[in-house]
Amino acid sequence: MSDQGCRLSQRERKLVAENVTKSFRHVATTIQVLRGVSFSLLTGEFVAIMGPSGSGKSTLLHVLAGLTPPDSGRVSLDGYEIGELSDREMTALRRRKIGIVFQQFNLIPALTLEENVLLPLLAERVDRSRLEKARQIIRDLGLWERRHHRPDALSGGEQQRTAIARALAIDPTLILADEPTGNLDSIAGQQFCHLLKTLAKEQSRTILVVTHEPAVAIWTDRVLVLKDGQIVAEFPTESCNSVRSLAARYEESLQMGQLENTL
Ligand code: ADP
Ligand code: MG
Repeated sequence: MSDQGCRLSQRERKLVAENVTKSFRHVATTIQVLRGVSFSLLTGEFVAIMGPSGSGKSTLLHVLAGLTPPDSGRVSLDGYEIGELSDREMTALRRRKIGIVFQQFNLIPALTLEENVLLPLLAERVDRSRLEKARQIIRDLGLWERRHHRPDALSGGEQQRTAIARALAIDPTLILADEPTGNLDSIAGQQFCHLLKTLAKEQSRTILVVTHEPAVAIWTDRVLVLKDGQIVAEFPTESCNSVRSLAARYEESLQMGQLENTL
């Protein structure tokens, strides 16, 4: 491959996970949560991870974001090997490039909605125009009237949209979102999916979304099915012509994963 071809293919692979394992110890037992997860996302790809509760989805997202170290395996983000970064460098990479929407939102209770969204930008001392853009995201997500409220005065859906606004405000090249529509009504959920699709297709952001919902996964390019800490199937959504057929394909993948595991 030519030098240029080599550089291009590296740039295209925005996120790479290779043989990632992770276990947690409980008193006398060890739970193996991730059992050798490998996949990669190309720049501008919008991919869903689906899997039953407890299959390791949130753990995987935390490992990908550099918040939890894997036991073995490697992760690279935007060309950086995260195992080689210091805590400080990893924090800087997250603040500048990775928008994370956590399942539990992780909003700071003592800060208002607006302060929560702007905090990562203020930490980076960005200029006024970036702050104005972030305020526009608060407006776009229908939260402007609520900007002076603290999280405990917001509904579940508003807290979720605040977490989404905070993730988007840093202008991320990579977005990792853990069940981001779980607390949204179906219209708001579909609007958010439309927004993610636009960010991927028109602005080449790379997006990984964890979801249970076939109606969310149908917006993506590709579905990875995680079961018992392993990717047991992968399929392009263009092979599914409806939400129902995607749901059937997902269920089928889980059953096949079960068969393979028992063989
Ligand atoms: P999912 O998001 O797919 O529901 P999780 O990644 O949250 O799954 O959890 C997978 C398994 O790992 C569960 O059995 C959970 O109890 C366990 N687990 C997750 N985080 C921890 C932790 N910090 N300490 C111990 N066990 C954990
Ligand atoms: Mg989870």
